[in-house]
Amino acid sequence: MTLDMTLDTCQGPGLKSVEQGRELLRQAMTPVSETETLPLEQACGRILAVPAKARLDLPPCDNSAMDGYALCGDGPYRLAGKSLAGHPYTGTLQNGECVRITTGAPVPAGADRVVMQEQAQLQGEQLYLNSQPKEGDHIRRRGEDVRAGDTLIESGRRLRVAEVALLAAAGIHEVTVLRRVRAALLSVGDELRPLGTPASALGDGDIYDSNRIALKVALAQLDLEVIDLGCLPDQPAAIRDALIQARDSADLVISSGGVSVGEADFTRQVLEQLGHLDLWRLAIKPGKPFAFGRLPREEGEALFFGLPGNPVSALVTLYQLVLPALEKLQGVSAAECQAPFESRARLLNPIRKSPGRKDYQRGYTYRDSDGIQVVTSTGIQGSHILSGLADANCFIVLPREGGNCETGDWVAIEPFQKPLI
Ligand code: AMP
Ligand code: MG
Repeated sequence: MTLDMTLDTCQGPGLKSVEQGRELLRQAMTPVSETETLPLEQACGRILAVPAKARLDLPPCDNSAMDGYALCGDGPYRLAGKSLAGHPYTGTLQNGECVRITTGAPVPAGADRVVMQEQAQLQGEQLYLNSQPKEGDHIRRRGEDVRAGDTLIESGRRLRVAEVALLAAAGIHEVTVLRRVRAALLSVGDELRPLGTPASALGDGDIYDSNRIALKVALAQLDLEVIDLGCLPDQPAAIRDALIQARDSADLVISSGGVSVGEADFTRQVLEQLGHLDLWRLAIKPGKPFAFGRLPREEGEALFFGLPGNPVSALVTLYQLVLPALEKLQGVSAAECQAPFESRARLLNPIRKSPGRKDYQRGYTYRDSDGIQVVTSTGIQGSHILSGLADANCFIVLPREGGNCETGDWVAIEPFQKPLI
């Protein structure tokens, strides 16, 4: 009996799955609805609240895709002038006429094709071609990218660099976006010291509060507004005061540490005094002690995400559980919230795993010289091994009920995403 209970506690057949946890969290989120209007250049990362419509065609006129000559008809051709970007040719070409043209310059009326300059030689006013272009060659047509009146971007979409470029091209210099979600951030642990404390001043067993910094930059990348409530001791009264402050000033609280089963883990207890604990512990490795709850206030409530203190666990649970929920809270439409990109790779080393929890090991994936996608574990997989996370470029995702894996096995991987375009 005791042995069974121990096993249950370690691997937990009764624990909710990662997928159930994610669903429960997403269900608990009500997207923000307040909006603000911002200059486009300040809106990258924000969620569009009102669909953006094109007010003009893109390209706005037929224009040249090449530096060369715009031609009318089949030739031979006589030079009639030039059309430069910013300085269009205003006449109409007659059959057998051509103009010098640069990339992006309007194709003059009458011209029906463009030849690139490498394929043409001008002698005096006469143009000689190496090959005869077809009608329409190298002409970028008016409106082939976007038509006036088209919806450029639906509401509920995050504006990334490419979206900003598109809106700018369409002349949209202001956008209406959803307000930022406000997250209060705190760490709990008597052993934690703020970054900046000299190493010589650390007591025996003291460590730097790295989670708060890591979570802060991660949330900033996701475009949340962060209220940093600092680092708290393992004292219920201090945790209580901080949660009240967080509840009253933010949409959500993210804490790390103090949610496990140690004798100094008070966060859950305080949460249950102030509000509700809706979820505690999931079949995820690392990150089992993850907690979620709510802190009601006079109007509405603040959401509570309790991440485990171990630094790798804190970041794995942030990415696997909290982020999908935050996206919904931020107002990203369901169609835009995509499951993380998953692929497959061949293992270059064996992996030890006991059934019971879905495992997110840290891996490095690349294409080998035979073109096969392979993956290797980045060293030991303890939930305190930050170097292994820093060296990783993917998670190796091992199913809950699976056991050991051998070299050569095909496994699921989730490549880390680059926040570009
Ligand atoms: P806990 O979840 O409080 O039991 O902490 C688990 C482990 O994570 C312990 O080794 C803590 O020292 C460590 N830890 C807790 N909070 C942090 C933090 N903010 N930064 C770095 N490590 C932490
Ligand atoms: Mg602790």
